[in-house]
Amino acid sequence: MKVIVPVKRVIDYNLRPRVKTDGSGIDLSNLKMSLNPFDEIAVEEAVRLKEKGIAKEVVLVSIGVSKAQDQLKTGMAIGADRSILIETEENVEPLHVAKLLKAVVDQEKPDLVIAGKQAIDDDSNQTGQMLAALLGWPQGCFASKLTIADNKIEVTREIDGGLETISLNLPAVVTSDLRLNEPRFVSLPNIIKARKKPIEIKKPEDFGIDITPRLKTLKVEEPPVRQAGEKVESVEEFAAKLKEWGVGA
Ligand code: AMP
Repeated sequence: MKVIVPVKRVIDYNLRPRVKTDGSGIDLSNLKMSLNPFDEIAVEEAVRLKEKGIAKEVVLVSIGVSKAQDQLKTGMAIGADRSILIETEENVEPLHVAKLLKAVVDQEKPDLVIAGKQAIDDDSNQTGQMLAALLGWPQGCFASKLTIADNKIEVTREIDGGLETISLNLPAVVTSDLRLNEPRFVSLPNIIKARKKPIEIKKPEDFGIDITPRLKTLKVEEPPVRQAGEKVESVEEFAAKLKEWGVGA
């Protein structure tokens, strides 16, 4: 079985994003960039499938700037075999990513795609679903557990009311939720080994996909500053406050 894992280079999750002064977006200059945390979980899951002898090859795909090779190397240090970078300076939208991933899937013919449930920069949560729709494949999003047997995959999904388990025929698209696994600590020897693993560089034009933006960001602004809380002396005072604020009437 071959597994493809799409991985995105994003602002490191520990950092507080700064809005550009003109409100046109987030200022990413001189900021630490990392592998999207949900994608790290997806890579870990694919590598565990390989270690169990279920998957034979794990291929990473990233669409983004040349520097995204760093994140591909991190994924290969976890244990992925090789990578494809579709290089572009454009800020690609989920539909473009899904179209490019479909083109890669058509060429590579994997049995399974494990994407992250969302990229933490734009929080779109769209790419996996769009890719499944474009491929006409079944999808299991927000996976917290995967079991593969008899050309089927069982996906336990995190939904509002609890957990839902569904069975999909392979090939399929799955997206990882936070509790799917805890990614391993990447050792230095594996980081060094990953440097020798191949990264194939492509361009969106190689796949004939037009990535002209279809969405326009009108404005990005900081969330409003949270108001300080108030202490009350009694339940009666609290009830009076609720009435005053028009809550729970
Ligand atoms: P999104 O729909 O943007 O929230 O992203 C969901 C998932 O799609 C991510 O966790 C990645 O697995 C994949 N993805 C999104 N953008 C890219 C990209 N530029 N390159 C590779 N994979 C991506």
